[in-house]
Amino acid sequence: MTPQQRVLALLHRRMAGIEKGAPTGLPIVPSTVFHLPGEPAAPFTYARDASPTVQEAEAALGLLEEADCVLFPSGMAAIAAVLHAHLRPGDRVVFPADGYYTGRLLIEEFLAPMGVEAVFVPTREMDGADLRGARMIFLETPSNPCLDVCDIPRIAARRGGAILVVDNTAATPLLQQPLELGADLTVHAGTKALNGHSDVLAGHVAGRDPALVDPVRRWRKLAGAVPGPFEAWALHRGLETLEVRLARMVATAELLAPRLAAHPAVRALRYPGLPGDPAHSVARRQMAGFGTLIGITFADADTAERFLARAPLAQTTSFGGVHSSAERRARWGDAVPPGFVRLSVGCEPAGELWRGIAAALDALA
Ligand SMILES: *Cc1c(COP(=O)(O)O)cnc(C)c1O
Repeated sequence: MTPQQRVLALLHRRMAGIEKGAPTGLPIVPSTVFHLPGEPAAPFTYARDASPTVQEAEAALGLLEEADCVLFPSGMAAIAAVLHAHLRPGDRVVFPADGYYTGRLLIEEFLAPMGVEAVFVPTREMDGADLRGARMIFLETPSNPCLDVCDIPRIAARRGGAILVVDNTAATPLLQQPLELGADLTVHAGTKALNGHSDVLAGHVAGRDPALVDPVRRWRKLAGAVPGPFEAWALHRGLETLEVRLARMVATAELLAPRLAAHPAVRALRYPGLPGDPAHSVARRQMAGFGTLIGITFADADTAERFLARAPLAQTTSFGGVHSSAERRARWGDAVPPGFVRLSVGCEPAGELWRGIAAALDALA
């Protein structure tokens, strides 16, 4: 289905067969227990297994992914579930050397000591990487924070017996559908653009093969990494405006990127939508839009900090929210130049946003 058809299905989902007088907005069901006389076979038994509001959010995500979805209380919980459900001692996982760093720490500190062999490959080298003998290939494209991309269909064609997982957080299912491109599972941090309001931690795993999704759901039940109904409800509400938010955010990012690139205070700029960007040709093939993140490199840390102090941007880690934000990633230890700033473009009116950013840039001269 096109992104538009999936968004329509999401927005009309609750209207199908709705009874007169029933709530059209999603109700929250906080109950952890369900009435169970006799044999306990019922749609809901205990909320660590399944609960109504969480299931509603999973159904909405399922329409965007065109797949079975398992919701988690954070993006990392979703990633941990995929790794733990599918890797055993002796297995090899190919994992991004750049990308979201907490996944690497989880592997190094917990999975490697249990006998999982990790091979870390930079995203821009993933297309040609040696994938032989891998049980799992984990991609993050576009990668965070450097915005490199790798070619999902090309890697899918070379994956052999490996499970191909794509962390699609930076793109969202509306800008890129890895399962259509040949991936077996996707993971997302719903904390970012899917919720979009910087007030919920969430994550999900999506896939079409029950042999791959069922162990993830089983792991959630046994490990207890279950999202609460209030977070599921808030995520669901965010999903209903995802498409309009993304349309504004991507259009603004496309407007800002060339203007930023042309400014004398900017040393280097990464945005997959710029024709000269190393990610452009692959991104154009496999993405429906170039995303909401821009990588800006200033001369040094001090210049970047002076820009951040003046620009009309929230200085937060994380991204994908309605409020534009930026931060200097080297302060977290990312392998980026000290003057590298990740800009997350939000929903402010573009002209006003640019006016403030341009004033902050001009003041650096
Ligand atoms: C934020 C993020 C995560 C982790 O999500 P949390 O909700 O913070 O656990 C994973 N992958 C990517 C690409 C992210 O940006």
